[in-house]
Amino acid sequence: MKVERKITLTLQHTEKQKLTAAVLNCLRQAHPDAGPRLHFSNPYQALVATILSAQTTDEQVNRVTPLFFKKYLDIKALADAEVSHVEEIIKSVGLFRNKAAHLVAAARIILDEHKGEIPDDFDSLLKLPGVGRKTANVVLFNAFGKPGLGVDTHVHRVANRIGLCSEKHPEGTEKRLKELIPEQEWGEAHHLLIFHGRRVCQARKPECTSCTLREICKNACKS
Ligand code: SF4
Repeated sequence: MKVERKITLTLQHTEKQKLTAAVLNCLRQAHPDAGPRLHFSNPYQALVATILSAQTTDEQVNRVTPLFFKKYLDIKALADAEVSHVEEIIKSVGLFRNKAAHLVAAARIILDEHKGEIPDDFDSLLKLPGVGRKTANVVLFNAFGKPGLGVDTHVHRVANRIGLCSEKHPEGTEKRLKELIPEQEWGEAHHLLIFHGRRVCQARKPECTSCTLREICKNACKS
């Protein structure tokens, strides 16, 4: 690569990092309560709740997890469960049949291959049934306080609208955001972008006129 081109790319990257830092600062002010909405109190519960939350609201998940955790107290109890019994408990949650099968299969793998401990590294989490990149990132941060930046539909939409990245797929957005945001802020950034997507920058009707980012957002509507 020519030296001039390298310098231009470095400058562009630095500008994007500054924009990203400014965006996160604004969002910290706007959403001081941003954080997990799923209810859990240990890594096992965090993993179960996060797997259940795919394509379902956190509220729906929170309605089924109290009974779930009462019935399946730990990974051993879940590994011993009948899939049909798990289905019965989570049937009000979207994709419940797949999720029930994944949860029991994941519990058996964790028992056999991880001595019953929820793995705290990205690659091991990603190998579990029902765990994609978003879930692995979310569990890393929420359950273990490790760097993780899960990109769901809100994070993907908001980050691209603002102009932090220009990516077609969530995986590209995740990679780009991880380049722009310091590792220790990944988890916080995930929650801030989700809250902004839910409350202000909604999919169909972004509230640009009242948005804290309207002066720096690439796609702010001007009316
Ligand atoms: S200005 Fe509009 S498009 Fe940009 S982040 Fe705010 S609501 Fe979304």
